[in-house]
Order: sequence, then C-alpha cells, then structure tokens
Amino acid sequence: MPVSCKICGSTNLDLKHNRIRDGAKEVDCNVWKCIDCEIVFLDLEVDEHQLLDYYKDGHFRNSYLPDIKDAESKKAEKFYSLKQPLQESRLNLLRDLFKKDMEVLDIGCATAGFLNLLKDLVGRVKGIELYRPHVEYASGNLGLDVEMKNINEITEEKFDVICTFQVMEHVATPVDFLSQIYKKLKDNGLLIIEVPNIDDPLISLYDVIPYKDFYFMKPHLFYYSETSIASLLKKIGFNSVQFRSFQHYGLMNHLCWSLTGETSTATKVGGGGMDFPSKYSGSPALQEIMPFFEDTNRKYKTMLEDMRKTDTLLVVARKE
Ligand SMILES: [Zn+2]
Repeated sequence: MPVSCKICGSTNLDLKHNRIRDGAKEVDCNVWKCIDCEIVFLDLEVDEHQLLDYYKDGHFRNSYLPDIKDAESKKAEKFYSLKQPLQESRLNLLRDLFKKDMEVLDIGCATAGFLNLLKDLVGRVKGIELYRPHVEYASGNLGLDVEMKNINEITEEKFDVICTFQVMEHVATPVDFLSQIYKKLKDNGLLIIEVPNIDDPLISLYDVIPYKDFYFMKPHLFYYSETSIASLLKKIGFNSVQFRSFQHYGLMNHLCWSLTGETSTATKVGGGGMDFPSKYSGSPALQEIMPFFEDTNRKYKTMLEDMRKTDTLLVVARKE
C-alpha cells in the first residue's frame, strides 16, 4: 500500500529526508511532506500505548533533553532551573494575552516552570504531565495543581487558555489531540501552541544535510509550518489563527552548522547568543568587539522573523 498523508490522506507526497536521530544514533527512516496540506511526518507506525509509556517512563526527558552530557540535568530541580530563562522569554512574548480572572491549563508542563511564573497573573493554573518525577516536583516542591494525566483524562473542567509548548510534535494523532483541546476551551478561549518550525532556516535557507540528520528525530512524529498548522486548526474549528513565531538559535549556531556541519558545543544549551569558547573569554579585544556581535545577532534574528523563516512556531488560535 502506498504511503498516505497522516492528516489529509493524500498520496501526493514528496520525500523530504531519509534519516532521523534515534537517541545518540542515526537510523534510516523516510520523512514525507504532503504536497496537499504541507504537513511533514515520519514514516513510522506508532502504538499509542507504547508511546504513553515512553513518556511516562521518562525515556524522552532522559535521552534528549535538556543536556545529555550532564547527568544532573535529568533531575527535576536542575531541569527546572535550566529551563527557567526560556520560560521567562516565553511569558514575555505572551503576557498581554493573560487576564486576572483566567483559568489556564498547560499540557505537557514538565516541571511547570511556565505555570509557576504565570500563577500570580491569572485566576488559576493547572498542569498535566506524563513524567512522574516532574509531576512530583511541580506539585510537591512548587505546590502547583499538576497531575499525571493526558488530555483525554481531563473530563469536567473548561479553561480560558490552554497552552502546549513543544508537545504537539510528539503527538501521534494531532487531529484528535486538537479536538480534545477544542472541547475543553470555554467560548472565546485561546489555544497557544509552540512547536519546532519545519521552515527552520538551517533547512529552508541553508539546507544543511547534517542538521537534517539531527533535526528529524524519532520522538518528533510531525513537523509543522505556519501554513500546515493554520489549516489543521481551521479544520478543527479555530477560525482565528495568529502567529508570534520567533528565532531562538543565533548567528553563531547557524555559522557552526552551515560551515562545519556540526553544532557548536559552546552554544549547545540556550544557543541563542554569541558565546565564544571559554578560552577566549578573558580577551579584552573580544570584549570590545562583543557589542558588534550582539547587535548583529539581534538584527539577524529580526531578519529571519521578518522573512517568517524561524526555528520556532508560536501559534495563538481562538475558539470563536
Ligand atoms: Zn496532507
């Protein structure tokens, strides 16, 4: 049987790539792009129960994030503090959407770093997460309402805002996932989604093959663009779909990838800046030149954002 699009069923497909990352290894796997709906997906059969167990057992948190080389980063407390700068910049991009009386749900909230920042700005925050050590940290240490559940297990409650950051690319059945969210939003409620963008400049501008071997990974089943996610959301019933997409990785990271075919170890964690390897850090001349690099980096990211070729999609959809 020919491969067909996992969203629209079309057999009109283009081969986008043929290798993916599986933990530390690279393995053969076709990555298809649907010519009709623009969705990109891995040619993998996924068992939903096995997938849930994979996240419950923490295999993803332990083998990809946030820093494979640092064993300490697997611990919830370290994970929380490593991710907090990212949570702060996320909130800065979204702050104006939240109001004092709102009830907010974060799906796949991990250690609930975003909710912990948000809790004083809204009426109520709730998180759901599959990985038990993160649930225990968020509910025990932070005292937040975070439960070990998936979206299907939220039955009674409705929310003004539902957020899901870097989760939907892991979901095997996005139409069902979004329909579940739609039902759990109040009228006029907002859905905020953050996912990697398939129009990432290292693919769409520079076409760096080793980057594609790294970017496409077994846990990321779907790859969205502004076009494909907007059409999917409209199909579910979200009539208003807007974007606040942004570029996270910086010029230094892009130069490393495009010139050497490798990521820079100096910029591997939070590689949005212009951090030089530490052997240069005492150089007075470099200190003098740094403002130039930092200004150039900011301009570079703004250019990519204006071109709508960013590494991160941030979507705000309204249930009208
Ligand atoms: Zn399709």
